[in-house]
Amino acid sequence: MSEFDSGLMWFRRDLRAHDNAALYHALKSCRRVWCVFVFDRDILDPLPRADRRVEFIRESLVELDAALRAHGQAHGHEHVGLIVLHGHATQAVPRLAQSLGVQAVFTNHDDEPDALARDAQVLGHLAHAGVALRSYKDHVVFERREVLTQAGHAYGVFTPYKNAWLKALTPFHLKAYPVARYAGALAPRPEAWRQPVPTLADIGFEPSNLSQLPLPTGASGAHQLLDDFVQRIERYHEARDFPAVKGPSYLSVHLRFGTLSIRQAAGLAYPMHLQGMAGASTWLSELIWRDFYHQILANFPHVAKSAFKPEYDAIRFEHGKHAEALFQAWCEGRTGYPLVDAAMAQINQTGYMHNRLRMVVASFLVKDLGIDWRWGERYFAQHLIDFDLAANNGGWQWASSSGCDAQPYFRIFNPVNQSEKFDPQGKFIRRYLPALAGLSDRSIHAPWAAPALELQAAGVELGRSYPRPVVDHAEARERTLLRYAVVKKPV
Ligand code: FAD
Repeated sequence: MSEFDSGLMWFRRDLRAHDNAALYHALKSCRRVWCVFVFDRDILDPLPRADRRVEFIRESLVELDAALRAHGQAHGHEHVGLIVLHGHATQAVPRLAQSLGVQAVFTNHDDEPDALARDAQVLGHLAHAGVALRSYKDHVVFERREVLTQAGHAYGVFTPYKNAWLKALTPFHLKAYPVARYAGALAPRPEAWRQPVPTLADIGFEPSNLSQLPLPTGASGAHQLLDDFVQRIERYHEARDFPAVKGPSYLSVHLRFGTLSIRQAAGLAYPMHLQGMAGASTWLSELIWRDFYHQILANFPHVAKSAFKPEYDAIRFEHGKHAEALFQAWCEGRTGYPLVDAAMAQINQTGYMHNRLRMVVASFLVKDLGIDWRWGERYFAQHLIDFDLAANNGGWQWASSSGCDAQPYFRIFNPVNQSEKFDPQGKFIRRYLPALAGLSDRSIHAPWAAPALELQAAGVELGRSYPRPVVDHAEARERTLLRYAVVKKPV
């Protein structure tokens, strides 16, 4: 006997029709279930008209719709599928719930501040109409206050959090939700809502360059990448730091939009970790970092706007025209430091940036250019296809030393050493900065130090075909140590 006659499943960052907590609970507790996704104008309206994420979502929805149809057909139900709306979710969801006459809306947690505010509004509208809102953990293995210190506080340091996370883990936490078993409850869409997933043009967008990237979309794309990564996971710990090497999984966008279940990802790595496979242990650790930053955002929401450690808000970063010009040079990959510039070309051309490079460019912006980490955080938020507030904020606060368990402020990456160490033959730099391709492996990391004859032979004219460094690293380092001295003294 079902708890409700009918319910509405509201998809957000969980775009899959298998192993989905809210979908499973909706199907189990309702006799009939409809499914909706809203292209939320509160999020979309401020975006540029060509945005890879919007296109990724749109392509993934086509697959989600097909997967729901297939579930329906397996139970002999015609006209099952995804209802896709374009409007303001705060109004569109309650309105649809009322039109369909459901008793409950089911969705998965989203702990970003704007999402919590949106959900509070939806809850209010639904409650007014006598409709329940049920929400579930789905996006992480452990959330909010599930893993706490012995004193009952949220963790602010990663290693003890990771140990407690591993101790708390049971097979239950990694078990897939058996959606298919209950999919007979998926109900045919009323005629008014049987349209196919809207095109990009229907929602006022244009194609980005997504289709030219080697990035498969939807749940099938996630599985393709996962299958490929399984062949390499054994070497992940050795390969992951070298941007020219195919080392990491490239699954971040799929984890971001839920086309891959975190339980499936962690469930793959965990048994290999138990068998002592170093690559799998390191990868599992990265997934735990993801949970860590999500619980940081949930328990310390002030991080979204200010430093995790408040004393770091006393730091005075550069401002004014010169700072803006330096920031622009960083954004456009014109700093004169090849690894930094190649990394910025990667994000600008593809929406992805290798993890080592995210650390290098973030450190360079804050500690070489003296610019507020929030400027870089915002730029990444606009350009990363895998942008996730919790992970992005965590990464930037780590680099600026203001975060939990962050890099100490006096540890300042040397962009040339990083380049020599992690791109020793300049392969990554050559891929993104063809103007420097003719330089030797030695000179490519610091063209300004190359012999004039070599520059000439390679066709590199500093200040013309490639910029001179916008700052001197050694001098910038001293300025940063002075700037950060404020955090040592009472202010
Ligand atoms: P893999 O190395 O294969 O890692 C597997 C998964 O673990 C990733 O997909 C991701 O979900 C998670 N993960 C890995 N490293 C981290 C980490 N340090 N923190 C949290 N989760 C992690 N990651 C995002 O998903 N979105 C962001 O907006 C984001 N912004 C970042 C900004 C900065 C300044 C820094 C230093 C890191 C940021 N990261 C972010 C973390 C990391 O760089 C990316 O998750 C990773 O590069 C994605 O590539 P991958 O999927 O191939 O990773």
